[in-house]
Amino acid sequence: MAFGMEYDVLIIGAGSAGLSAALTLGRCLRRVLVADGGPPRNAASPGVHGFLTRDGIRPAELLRLGQEQLAPYETVEVQCLHIDTLTRQGKGFCATGHGTADDTPITVSARRVLLATGVSDILPPLPGFRELWGRGVLHCPYCHGWEVRSQPLAVYGQGRTVTGLALLVSRWSRDVIVVTNGPGHLTPNARRRLRREKIGIREEPITRLIGAKNGELRCIEFANGDQLERAALFLHAPQHQRTPLAADMGARLTSKGAVWVDSKLHTSIPGLYAAGDTKPGTQQALLAAADGNHAAIVINESLTREECPK
Ligand SMILES: Cc1cc2nc3c(=O)[nH]c(=O)nc-3n(C[C@H](O)[C@H](O)[C@H](O)COP(=O)(O)OP(=O)(O)OC[C@H]3O[C@@H](n4cnc5c(N)ncnc54)[C@H](O)[C@@H]3O)c2cc1C
Repeated sequence: MAFGMEYDVLIIGAGSAGLSAALTLGRCLRRVLVADGGPPRNAASPGVHGFLTRDGIRPAELLRLGQEQLAPYETVEVQCLHIDTLTRQGKGFCATGHGTADDTPITVSARRVLLATGVSDILPPLPGFRELWGRGVLHCPYCHGWEVRSQPLAVYGQGRTVTGLALLVSRWSRDVIVVTNGPGHLTPNARRRLRREKIGIREEPITRLIGAKNGELRCIEFANGDQLERAALFLHAPQHQRTPLAADMGARLTSKGAVWVDSKLHTSIPGLYAAGDTKPGTQQALLAAADGNHAAIVINESLTREECPK
């Protein structure tokens, strides 16, 4: 048990960020435990788009391949575990959690911890949003704009956020309508910019989204009974961290609730790193994988410095 810890690195989360970090750390001969706590953020989506060599792959299949390619690296273990607590133990960490299949309690120690736990999207509490999420209700035109290009689209939200997203989505389709579900809080300038791109605005309250069984959107129903046919609706949903582990440890968070990191993906807690959606920045599966690779290199170098003092 080098340095009194069972593992060199505990990676919490087995999405693109976590599995990519595990691959690089396995190649560094590091003893790694990956806690796989369940489905990734994009589980509801039919395909991961824009991922080099894997464009359109099912989210679960991408991660299955990621786990399969860890098999040669005997120092890496992936376990179906949810980590519940994280505390300091000397220069390292002690984590407790439970098996996701059988609830068995576990305690592990590790010299470094990588948080690759991602975020959850908070959808409006209206019928249809959750049901159509990932297919008819979309969060990002870079991920799904091509699939609905040139079709009638809606963009949901209020104020500056909806204006920016609607202008962006209008690069994929010339038929875009902003739906604000009540007062849109749009400035005269925002209205002018939308009008210039021929983007309509509907400010009536929405009662529900009507979709097909396969999750595609058919129309948006307003409180006055009107139905607006649309092929998809985009929104920037607020997010929260999938786990409060960083906050519980007292790690610095940004004003938007992301885990703050420096340019080396180090959080404000020594030895605790963060990669992927959990930290600030553009959220894409490929960028999360790149982050995992980056964090793994930084962590391996920090372990090497500890092992080979000046
Ligand atoms: C509907 C939808 C569609 C998307 N489509 C695309 C796309 O087409 N292309 C693209 O590039 N991006 C897409 N994205 C964005 C993409 O899903 C994320 O950028 C990516 O999943 C981030 O990877 P991650 O590893 O940081 O987090 P995640 O993939 O969310 O993985 C985090 C993992 O950590 C686990 N976890 C959380 N807490 C714990 C804990 N306490 N213990 C153990 N495990 C834990 C979670 O269960 C999860 O498996 C989409 C997102 C959504 C919502």
